[in-house]
Amino acid sequence: MPRHPSIETLIERLGRLPGIGPKSAERLAFHLLRVDKVEALQLATAIEEVRAAVRNCSRCCNLDATDPCSICSDSSRDAAMLLVVEDSREVARFEEVGYRGLYHVLQGRLSQFEGIRPEDLTTDELLARVRKERPTEVCLATNPDLEGEGTARVLAERLAPLDVKVTRLARGLPAGASIAQVSKSILADAIEGRRSLS
Ligand SMILES: [Zn+2]
Repeated sequence: MPRHPSIETLIERLGRLPGIGPKSAERLAFHLLRVDKVEALQLATAIEEVRAAVRNCSRCCNLDATDPCSICSDSSRDAAMLLVVEDSREVARFEEVGYRGLYHVLQGRLSQFEGIRPEDLTTDELLARVRKERPTEVCLATNPDLEGEGTARVLAERLAPLDVKVTRLARGLPAGASIAQVSKSILADAIEGRRSLS
């Protein structure tokens, strides 16, 4: 007996989610058919609610209740400084430490393994924004790991013709660290990212 077309549709929809292959999509679909109907529909409701409540800021691509987001709408922030981060969670971290410039959220990072290309991120939006808003500095605050570094390198190349100062976060020594004990990569970064005291 062929499966009901609605089951095929659900499997096909689930299979479009990142990291979900056809097998997983099928497993999830049958899970949703097996569990209590109310529980299954709560997932649909949660998706509906979050899509109604949260939107992408058309300026910085951050997620917020409003567009432009609360950060872009705050005129007391320093528009000369643009901090480029991978996703919204990192915006929250920089807010915690009192950063007062603006952000640009890439919504991911480049990954050969996952097939994520510059056009899959908000790269074009970033370049258009730098051309239009003319910040003094763009700091590439992607994570200091292989894919984050690769993303920063590609962005730096694309920003190079735009006559803007491009920086990377200093990594350096964590406060309270002992030079004898930190890892070689941290120590190498600490020398690389040294600051002037004068
Ligand atoms: Zn914004």
